[in-house]
Amino acid sequence: MKILVINCGSSSLKYQLIDSEAEDVLAVGLCERIGIDGRLVHTPNGGEKRVFETPLPDHEAAVQAVLSALTNGEYGVIDSLSQIDAVGHRVVHGGERFTSSVVIDDAVIAAIRECNDLAPLHNPANLIGIDACRKLMPGVLMAAVFDTAFHQTMPKKAYTYALPYEYYDKYKLRRYGFHGTSHRYVSERAAAIAGLNYKDSRIIVCHLGNGASVCAVLNGNSVDTSMGLTPLEGLVMGTRSGDIDPAILEFIAKKEGKTLEEIMNLLNKKSGVYGLSGVSSDFRDLEAAAGEGNVRAKEATEVFVYRVAKYIGAYAAVMNGVDAIAFTAGLGENDKKIRAQICSYLGYLGVELDGSRNDVRAKETLICTDTSKVKVLVVPTNEELAIARDTAALVGQH
Ligand code: AMP
Repeated sequence: MKILVINCGSSSLKYQLIDSEAEDVLAVGLCERIGIDGRLVHTPNGGEKRVFETPLPDHEAAVQAVLSALTNGEYGVIDSLSQIDAVGHRVVHGGERFTSSVVIDDAVIAAIRECNDLAPLHNPANLIGIDACRKLMPGVLMAAVFDTAFHQTMPKKAYTYALPYEYYDKYKLRRYGFHGTSHRYVSERAAAIAGLNYKDSRIIVCHLGNGASVCAVLNGNSVDTSMGLTPLEGLVMGTRSGDIDPAILEFIAKKEGKTLEEIMNLLNKKSGVYGLSGVSSDFRDLEAAAGEGNVRAKEATEVFVYRVAKYIGAYAAVMNGVDAIAFTAGLGENDKKIRAQICSYLGYLGVELDGSRNDVRAKETLICTDTSKVKVLVVPTNEELAIARDTAALVGQH
């Protein structure tokens, strides 16, 4: 089956065409600057990357451009649109309603729209992408795969904020967690590689990219995760603060005369290792700066690492131990120093990192010693493949 995977943002649209039986990527690409001017970057499998400066006034134009590229005689990968069996859409917020991936119909669209308040930057953009695909590919099955769905197994004690209860009743204000598709994919792979029975295992996944979260996966179910109502909670990230004392908002408002909106922008876009270091949100830049003696860059990395170690300790506690810890996403897959620094806190759990095994990038592998009580792994995430698998399974059931 050929599945088109779409990840639609407010001014961008990422796509992959995946052969779900062979699990081959046939083409990948990205539409950027939608509604501004427009650029399409398209790479067919085994072919060269093509960049087209093309007007993309709206998302429908972007989807049209993607479909034209996929069917192009020269750099396309299919002869006609009828070869696309289904489309899998990444949807950020599924609220409490969606606990797994679903076939999209009008009722599902209405329910996703009801979650817009919970993810005002993301869900409306996801819906625009769905709408454009439905218009241009009538009759083709569309699936929604939610970032939040995997975490719907969290127990109430883990997802509840200690706020007046009426806010949960009125607004469903609670912790949801994100990166669920990645945590599900990586925890399953980690169990397989470590030789664990997924349904009888305690796995901690560290998804460390520009956005970062940790997830406790007990017997195949998410039982806690570090992001909350929004992706702002939890770890220190590239530009997000992660956990802070909520009273800081009032403090900054008074001292700096900032509005709530300005402070939210500061916490989301100007904080994290970027705000701490004043150098960059990218750990490669931080390491280079630290190497040249930049103290703040070094300290920013220390703060980041410490927070990850704290969450791992907390999640080992809630699962009464841990069998495996998996590192994934840009930093988790590529940065051996950061992995080593995090693991240096975990000796008490019986974690023994193997220095030469840890000298690895973006490859599924164990990086602990044979005697390590806890298996430690690198597992490259593949959210697009997980979306394609879910979509293909829904086609099979339909
Ligand atoms: P992601 O959001 O998963 O794409 O991850 C992006 C982050 O991963 C970047 O900001 C970098 O800090 C980090 N990263 C990506 N590649 C490398 C690399 N080769 N070495 C170290 N860090 C990397």
